[in-house]
Amino acid sequence: MTINATDLKSIIRDVPDFPKKGIIFKDITPLLKDAQALQRAVDELAVNFEDKKVDYVLGIESRGFIFSPVLAYKMNAGFIPVRKKGKLPAKTEEIAYALEYGEAVLEIHSDALEKGSRVLIVDDLLATGGTALAAAKLVERLGGTVVGIGFLIELEFLKGREKISSFDIHSLIRY
Ligand code: AMP
Repeated sequence: MTINATDLKSIIRDVPDFPKKGIIFKDITPLLKDAQALQRAVDELAVNFEDKKVDYVLGIESRGFIFSPVLAYKMNAGFIPVRKKGKLPAKTEEIAYALEYGEAVLEIHSDALEKGSRVLIVDDLLATGGTALAAAKLVERLGGTVVGIGFLIELEFLKGREKISSFDIHSLIRY
């Protein structure tokens, strides 16, 4: 039996009021533990960017770290981590960006990529787009080119796509 996009959607679990009241958290762990669903999700994300000559797949801590290295392996690319402030050991570039409440800081190693590198950004979920935009700015600051941004899930009603509309965006599951 093969799994289609509808099946992928049905396998995501809604957890109401996590991490705080009013948020419906999209829990991807049921998808991750299903071998066929996991394979399908990775394959479909990869297919959307296969003609982009990707040098590096960049993943954003924490759940972005689940799909990005697998995608990098599949696309014969390297993997670059973008982490929350204070986690990367060597010299870093940092960027602050607005969250729903307050602010967050993301970091990338200053020597993470070479000028002109072609970078695919991957995260589990697109909400307001602030996280993906911050990652894209870090790539561009180091002289890289963002050739695409891939998400497993897109919350369309939050219109995050508008914030990153200058990039080639693909999402597999939309709400
Ligand atoms: P944003 O910067 O608003 O696009 O938020 C995206 C980041 O927040 C992603 O890395 C997601 O992992 C996380 N996130 C935001 N909203 C949700 C949600 N409803 N369920 C799961 N993760 C979420």
